[in-house]
Amino acid sequence: MIEFKKVSKTYDNNVNALINVDVTIDRGEFVFLVGPSGAGKSTFIKLLLKEVDPTSGKILVNSKDITEIKRREIPYYRRKIGMVFQDFRLIPNLNVYENVAFAMRVVEAAPKDIRKRVPMVLSLVGLSEKYKVFPHELSGGEQQRVSLARAMVNNPSLLIADEPTGNLDPETAMDIMNLLDDINRAGTTILMATHAKDIVDQMKKRVIAIEKGTVARDEQRGRYGYED
Ligand code: ADP
Repeated sequence: MIEFKKVSKTYDNNVNALINVDVTIDRGEFVFLVGPSGAGKSTFIKLLLKEVDPTSGKILVNSKDITEIKRREIPYYRRKIGMVFQDFRLIPNLNVYENVAFAMRVVEAAPKDIRKRVPMVLSLVGLSEKYKVFPHELSGGEQQRVSLARAMVNNPSLLIADEPTGNLDPETAMDIMNLLDDINRAGTTILMATHAKDIVDQMKKRVIAIEKGTVARDEQRGRYGYED
């Protein structure tokens, strides 16, 4: 589903963020992206989201070379990708239901589909009871569940999670990981950038380690491999 072919990214300040990266991620995989700060993880994700373009190389997503997508087609491309962040990024003045529904409204889904789908994903993340509540009335773990529901509501084939447990206590973080695992088992490909050693070591998923812009390790049932 994702193929990086000899991908390099050099920023305007001549920093080589990624150098000749070759990576293939198959449909349905669960992949942890690890590595020290400044290694190139965010650049890898930004390339996938088409927020930046590679300096050289090709990036195929579902067999399509995304470096050739035209600017006006980018919003349509991004709809196929769900995104979850460390800081949740919910809309503060919308309740739980509306935060999730909003993601469907922006893609102009039919109202009857929104009425059907939003309760379904809220139930998937265990928040059916809290649909009328506003983000500030929720715990961090609950807010991350809402953001997961929002990421999944348009049924993306790929979910990218950027340090999704970074603001959560260990127990809540594990709840979110179990949800991600369920979502993955139901067929969604997951790419998760993280510094959470305990989680990576416990989950026993594929680990791609990026160091100084290159793939330093790529292991099935891998470990975090750093001490921080
Ligand atoms: P990570 O996510 O692993 O911390 P990044 O992909 O953010 O790493 O950064 C990789 C390298 O590219 C770092 O040296 C960083 O300073 C540099 N970098 C990232 N974004 C930019 C940018 N927009 N302009 C210039 N340099 C950047």
